[in-house]
Amino acid sequence: MSDSVVIVTGGSRGIGASVCRKLGALGHTVIVNYAGNEAAATDVVTTIESAGGAATAVQADVGSEQDVIRLFETADTLGTLKGLVNNAGVVDRAMRVEDMLLDRLTRMVNINLIGTFLCAREAVRRMSTKNGGQGGTIVNLGSAASKLGSPGMYVDYAATKGAIDTMTVGLAGEVALEGIRVNAVRPGIIDTEIHASGGAPDRVEKLQSQLPMKRAGTADEVAEAIVWLMSDQSSYTTGAILDVSGGRAILP
Ligand code: NAP
Repeated sequence: MSDSVVIVTGGSRGIGASVCRKLGALGHTVIVNYAGNEAAATDVVTTIESAGGAATAVQADVGSEQDVIRLFETADTLGTLKGLVNNAGVVDRAMRVEDMLLDRLTRMVNINLIGTFLCAREAVRRMSTKNGGQGGTIVNLGSAASKLGSPGMYVDYAATKGAIDTMTVGLAGEVALEGIRVNAVRPGIIDTEIHASGGAPDRVEKLQSQLPMKRAGTADEVAEAIVWLMSDQSSYTTGAILDVSGGRAILP
């Protein structure tokens, strides 16, 4: 098995699970990170192993610095870290900003933004040629919400994703000469369980007729773009933010 280890945060379900399966099939040793759904993470690991790949499930809350350090230390025992997909993210119940309580805002920023920074920090410490590493790639998950703002739904979520766009550009510039490429993928409405976890299980069904392509995207369609950005095929692409949104937030 390859010496190349990749970490996918939130790899147990949705877009992250699809990315894990694809990276596993390409021969990477995949760390399938999850927050609480051990069964889903184990299922992803089993699928990768059944296809002849290597994967390990690691529970870690990306909003916890201790957990993130443990996640990366586990990866260190399996080979050389070559990539990070900063995919873990949450939404919350639809509400106006005037009704948002501190607990909600703290959770949103901790997981979606600080978690992305903590994981990127640990990845750069290991992959940067400046620190003796071999280089690597980071892909962040943004959202079309960063352009739309999600009024009346979750402006807090959209704002964390706006920060992800900015962080992607800034970090890409910071490590461009250190063998690390940093890019983001900005999905539109994708058919995963995230909508149900935000209390809107029918969101995809309700919205799809309003989308430019009259359908939601699939986790696999987003994962294809992420895997390309993780690969050497995108060797001259850094600081890019790739919309995988079926035209949402771009087309009228
Ligand atoms: P999802 O189906 O809800 O899956 C979320 C994944 O993140 C799960 O594996 C979950 O683990 C994990 N996770 C949640 N909180 C975590 C934490 N604190 N620490 C570590 N892992 C955590 O989500 P998705 O739709 O695939 O979304 C993936 C990413 O794409 C997110 O960043 C999201 O904001 C972004 N995105 C999604 C859409 C969309 O329409 N689906 C659109 C734009 C952007 P457990 O299984 O243990 O709960």
